[in-house]
Amino acid sequence: MADIAPMTDLEKLRHSTAHVLAQAVLKLYPGAELAIGPPIDFGCYYDIRFPQPITDAELPKLEKEMRAIVKQHQTFESEALSIADAVAFWKERKQPFKVELVEDLSTKGETQVTHYRNVTAKGVETFVDLCRGGHVENLKDIPADGFKITSLAGAYWRGDENKPQLTRIYVAVFPSKEELDAHMHMLEEAKRRDHRKLGKEMDLFTFSEMVGAGLPLWTPRGTIIADALETLANELEAQGGYKRVRTPHIAKGKLYARTGHLAHYKTSMFPPMQLDGEEEEYYLKPMNCPHHHEIFACQPRSYRDLPLRLAEYGHCYRFEDSGALFGLMRVRSLTMNDAHIYCTEEQFESEFMAVINLYLKYFELFGVEKYVMRLSLHDPAELGKKYVNAPELWLKTEDMVRKVMQKAKCEFVEVPNEAAFYGPKIDVEVWSAIGREFTLATNQVDFDVPGKVGLSYVAADGSQQVPLCIHRAPLGTHERFIGFLIEHFAGHFPLWLAPVQVAVIPVAGAHEGYAKTVLDGLLSAGVRAEYMDPGESLGKRVREGERMRIPYLLVLGDKEVESQSVALRNVHTKAQVTIPLAEFTQKTVADIQERKLHSSF
Ligand SMILES: [Zn+2]
Ligand SMILES: [Zn+2]
Repeated sequence: MADIAPMTDLEKLRHSTAHVLAQAVLKLYPGAELAIGPPIDFGCYYDIRFPQPITDAELPKLEKEMRAIVKQHQTFESEALSIADAVAFWKERKQPFKVELVEDLSTKGETQVTHYRNVTAKGVETFVDLCRGGHVENLKDIPADGFKITSLAGAYWRGDENKPQLTRIYVAVFPSKEELDAHMHMLEEAKRRDHRKLGKEMDLFTFSEMVGAGLPLWTPRGTIIADALETLANELEAQGGYKRVRTPHIAKGKLYARTGHLAHYKTSMFPPMQLDGEEEEYYLKPMNCPHHHEIFACQPRSYRDLPLRLAEYGHCYRFEDSGALFGLMRVRSLTMNDAHIYCTEEQFESEFMAVINLYLKYFELFGVEKYVMRLSLHDPAELGKKYVNAPELWLKTEDMVRKVMQKAKCEFVEVPNEAAFYGPKIDVEVWSAIGREFTLATNQVDFDVPGKVGLSYVAADGSQQVPLCIHRAPLGTHERFIGFLIEHFAGHFPLWLAPVQVAVIPVAGAHEGYAKTVLDGLLSAGVRAEYMDPGESLGKRVREGERMRIPYLLVLGDKEVESQSVALRNVHTKAQVTIPLAEFTQKTVADIQERKLHSSF
């Protein structure tokens, strides 16, 4: 059989549960036809063709049957069969998908397949499946309160829409009830914090059928967040010695042909444009590097110019499949917090380390407590196809990155066959406050393209050398990062990021004079304050402020006018305090300037 990584204990638990699900399905729906049942991130699924469509209402009964099965102490017994015997077996059982799977294995050169039978303590066979193995020893090892059928979905056999449509049943599977409960809670929270729902409620971004799918439009409020992130990046990058550049959204095809992007990324690029009277085709840019390389090459460079760090909030376009588009998480137009660092081999370590430290700084600012860095490596079997054919350079560069990570005492995991085509990369995965995982940022080392496009510098000894290039994007794209932040903060952004920071709410007409003074004071101190006039009832205005997740609502009535104070309501924590106006303004301005994660009141 083909080499596949052995299953972890958790994957065995999850995959074994798929056998339990299939067994329960055959018991309750005898004519059902089984396709495949692999383990996934949080559990397992099984693709099945039912004699009649199954509905959500039937799931509790199915789940009950599954619980009865795991209590029967069934074991797994394996048996090797010849292809012919296996085909006959599945034909007799009227399982056409299994027949196809066996025949498929045969065309791949297999001469035998394995069946796994579930057998009760009394020796009664209850279920058989075609399977590579990777199971718990006994079904009693699956905790009866550690799994739950979460949903039904449609799926095509072999993912091909011209093939039969199947029903996919998802089951969440965990080693304990506590872990299952935590997962179910996370799903519920994720639904409540869904960036598409909150984005609409808080008026942050929109999509228009007239503009096109996957092309987000940032409204004034959303633009404030994007601008605040950009300002932050500009400041930190200026401190880190980066220089900002700007480049056009389109370029000739030959630019991308030379870097290798056209060969490796063409299917993710928008189709070319042919301009009148011009022979060359133009493309929307899928990434900024080829443009930055031209800036590096626009004048002779010497070792004294290095490291040269070119940064841009570059606008890129990728032709994602329409079925893959998802809110801000997968879009066709994206704004990247991009930069390219051109450096010598000797400078590599400190430059790479500085980038890693930049990531850590961002995590601290946004309160990201859990993250993991993944070092993606090449696969020697894919050299010359998926990866540039330079075996020694791959090993050398991968080792350079590995050493820096170890030196920085950064925990990381190594993942084979996920590198960029021109070199190894570090992907950063972060967990939102509710424990959901996002891949946000990358940091890549390019040992190939600079030489390919003729970049060079004069070294101290007068020789011409090719620089290394580090591609880095710590905030990833505005789109995905803001989507992540909406979920992470449940829309309750820290003060410095909130589109509107303070709402000024006079109780009645008599308090408008004072309220206007408070508003003017805040606006001139640089606070994003909004006025909510007494045209609406107080309750309605407070609810509106809550819906928009404005961090501070200042309610101003007789008492406040008299004592020159503000009655403050923190929309997130629900805390209510009355404080002198001067103190409120001073602390709020400081919290914003310092980009505090938790504000003073
Ligand atoms: Zn199995
Ligand atoms: Zn790049």
